[in-house]
Amino acid sequence: MKVVADTIAPKTGQANMPDYDTARADFSWEEVEKSFSWHETGKVNMAHEAIDRHAETWRRNKVALYYSDDERDEKYTFQDMKFLSNKFGNVLRSIGTEKGDRVFLFLSRSPELYTSLLGTLKIGAITGPLFEAFMEQAVRDRLENSEASVLITSPSLIDRVPYNELPHLENIILVGDGDAPEDGDVKFFRYEQEMEKNSRDLNIEWVDREDGMILHYTSGSTGKPKGVLHVHNAMIQQYQTAKWIMDLKEDDIYWCTADPGWVTGTSYGIFGPWLNGVSNLVRGGRFSPEDWYGTIEKYQVSVWLSAPTAFRKLMGAGDEAVKKFDLSSLRHVLSVGEPLNAEVIHWGMDVYNRRIHDHWWMTETGGVIIANYPAMPMKPGSMGKPFPGVEAAILDEEGNELPPGQMGKLCIKSGWPSMLRTVWNNEERFKKYFPFEGWFDSDDLASRDEDGYFWFEGRDDDVITTSGERVGPFEVESKLVEHPSVAEAAVIGKPDPVRGHIIKAFVALKDGYTRSDELEQELSSFVKKGLAAHAAPREMEIRDFLPKTRSGKIMRRVLKAWELDEPAGDLSTMEK
Ligand code: ATP
Ligand code: MG
Repeated sequence: MKVVADTIAPKTGQANMPDYDTARADFSWEEVEKSFSWHETGKVNMAHEAIDRHAETWRRNKVALYYSDDERDEKYTFQDMKFLSNKFGNVLRSIGTEKGDRVFLFLSRSPELYTSLLGTLKIGAITGPLFEAFMEQAVRDRLENSEASVLITSPSLIDRVPYNELPHLENIILVGDGDAPEDGDVKFFRYEQEMEKNSRDLNIEWVDREDGMILHYTSGSTGKPKGVLHVHNAMIQQYQTAKWIMDLKEDDIYWCTADPGWVTGTSYGIFGPWLNGVSNLVRGGRFSPEDWYGTIEKYQVSVWLSAPTAFRKLMGAGDEAVKKFDLSSLRHVLSVGEPLNAEVIHWGMDVYNRRIHDHWWMTETGGVIIANYPAMPMKPGSMGKPFPGVEAAILDEEGNELPPGQMGKLCIKSGWPSMLRTVWNNEERFKKYFPFEGWFDSDDLASRDEDGYFWFEGRDDDVITTSGERVGPFEVESKLVEHPSVAEAAVIGKPDPVRGHIIKAFVALKDGYTRSDELEQELSSFVKKGLAAHAAPREMEIRDFLPKTRSGKIMRRVLKAWELDEPAGDLSTMEK
């Protein structure tokens, strides 16, 4: 069951991608490969394609990275990035790092994070970025699982690294000033000193397309994070999706707000824009509506990629905040990471006069799979259509394709270029992604409509069976968010002797609203009237905040565990 959606037409203008059907009919990944210099030789290196290739052309003096936080405001050209990453590659080689070694990053967003990630790739080592807010257990788990031999971190974070208890960890490189231990069972180096000592010329390691490139741990929304390995070949998809979905053009200033600790922050915060030779803005520090709008105004951001949690917060901050800033540079706005409520899209049309383009993918897919494209009519609340060259389908429990309108498993025909190649040290888990011959199972539930648009319904684990009906939590949550008092909502199924499950909603209110029995009643009947009686929450709890991952995803499993008084499981990625 879907609420009938209205459609928002694209703005007229030149999008990189032709209309959807034409793009799909003509598409071949082999053609995309020809955009790269390695097409002929077979040997490749992501960092070369993202940085050095441009530094060898007129783009050498083009700004690759604008970096700003409360203390720094800097810019780096493609040539600067080339030399700095070369130096870092030499630093790693000088301490004995080799191709295939895991080099992890535990740093706040800073230019050094970007140059050292690229330098790691240049010597053929595998990079593993960790989110700076991780506490000791989260850091330990990932360094243990990956058997990383090098860690790049800072004196302010070193307290959270149990380096004497990690037998594989040999070297720690500290970025920035500050007191830090200088000995232990590992060798310590200072980033600035080592960079000073090393040459800006480097013999890059040419690797095979299938060689390991990046190890990303998933967000932990549904359980213990999985170490997903991607290879250099992922660049084919990251390049082409960034070109068509982010619609990147030569003169763009592109801002992706995701941290590189999450896959969006690398695939589309590093690789996508730089493979396309585009200027990339990184803003450190914490979220505030004023700061974000001010950043767009100051840097004249033209393409902006963020997440539903941020858009919902901006919406909660009110339209007045928008009016204080000049956002006219914005040409294209995107959202990813969680379902984007139709309500937020309508609000975006009102205040930004832009569509917010939702798109769907996951750590495991390495690149976008389903999207709303700039030139395609948009149905608010839908994830859009599969990328040309990718096949997605809705399958039942036996792997048979379901007809339009029915909810089932969202699966992808295996073999897309940026598909995960393994789960690190867990081949069994990797195999579980492929329950049906030739298909990858996302563990998300979705449906497809008659026009070929995909609609997200919920995580496989989160779908609620109540009085014999299957209800996707997203539909109910989206309805709740339409109510003027609601900032965010999460819905779970609670076991019930009569109905199987009942729906319980957790709601965070917008500023200016307070909890009352009447409001709870009103919200429940709002869903009943707008959706269906069986979808109306029978229990409601208004909370100050909802538990979320560091990447901003609502953790329904945690709400469920709290509700049922069960152990909450792995909380390493939970925002505190
Ligand atoms: P874990 O796998 O550890 O439980 P996670 O699935 O949240 O965590 P990610 O790989 O970061 O880790 O997130 C991918 C998931 O995010 C998708 O499977 C999907 O559930 C959700 N998601 C991403 N984008 C969208 C979107 N546009 N609409 C709906 N859901 C989305
Ligand atoms: Mg997942």
